[in-house]
Amino acid sequence: MPQRVICHNCSYVLYEGVDFISPDEIIQQYDCTCPKCDRKLSFLPLNIEVKPVNK
Ligand SMILES: [Zn+2]
Repeated sequence: MPQRVICHNCSYVLYEGVDFISPDEIIQQYDCTCPKCDRKLSFLPLNIEVKPVNK
């Protein structure tokens, strides 16, 4: 199932794809910072969203 990970602050799409990647890995790819709003990304406390994409 495709998944989408978005920044909770600005809704920037950090990851979208069919492969499941753990939020930790995605956060690390962005150096723990949202490229759009410069907000620090972390999974705890949760400030990103992981949603299944229904198409
Ligand atoms: Zn952001």
